[in-house]
Amino acid sequence: MNIVSAKSAHWTDEQLIDHLYGVGPTDGHLNQCDQCHSRLSAMETRRQQFSPEELVSDQFLAAQRRAIYARMSKPHHWWQDVPVRRWAAAAASIAVLSGSLTVYEMRQREIADARADAQLAQDVSQMSFESEAQATAPLHGLFVE
Ligand SMILES: [Zn+2]
Repeated sequence: MNIVSAKSAHWTDEQLIDHLYGVGPTDGHLNQCDQCHSRLSAMETRRQQFSPEELVSDQFLAAQRRAIYARMSKPHHWWQDVPVRRWAAAAASIAVLSGSLTVYEMRQREIADARADAQLAQDVSQMSFESEAQATAPLHGLFVE
């Protein structure tokens, strides 16, 4: 848009916009000047292209109002206020943590059992050497490596 100076005596864009809304100057310039009249016509055309009545139809507004009334008339239950998504995320986190802890505990128990088995084998081996009869001790001396 161009802004026409007051020197040329043509209306400025603000004056033309004011005229569109019925509060513009009343000096009758539009009746005499074809240039300002064509600028005003272009503004009116542009205004009608983006008219709010065309963007939002009565049917749309009526449907919106019906949806609001229908929603307001529905009974309100206490569980609708519970933030399900927040609690679902917390419950999922707790489930993952408890599952990980269970797996960790099972793995630690297996390791402890393996250590206990090794210790048991070592103890039995030790006991077998200790329970050997004293009479067989000289025989070991024959097989010195
Ligand atoms: Zn003019």
